[in-house]
Amino acid sequence: MTSEQMQLLKEIQTKNGFVEWFFQHIDDSQLQQLVEAGLVEIKIGEGYVGGIKEVNLTPIGYELIRDYCECCECNPCDCGFGS
Ligand SMILES: [Zn+2]
Repeated sequence: MTSEQMQLLKEIQTKNGFVEWFFQHIDDSQLQQLVEAGLVEIKIGEGYVGGIKEVNLTPIGYELIRDYCECCECNPCDCGFGS
């Protein structure tokens, strides 16, 4: 797990587990690793939003990121900022 991946998970959690595909700061292979680890799910929209990919946390991913601290990148947080 890289810090970029942790930050991505946190970003998804911050947006209530539902974000559009805007992750220019992370490459596809890193995202694919998260999918393969069972931490996120990728959905491809249909109809009006056809072709737009969306990423959701799985319950496992949510558990993992819940205690992550953006301030110091500790997980679980031990600096006090994340609580
Ligand atoms: Zn912390």
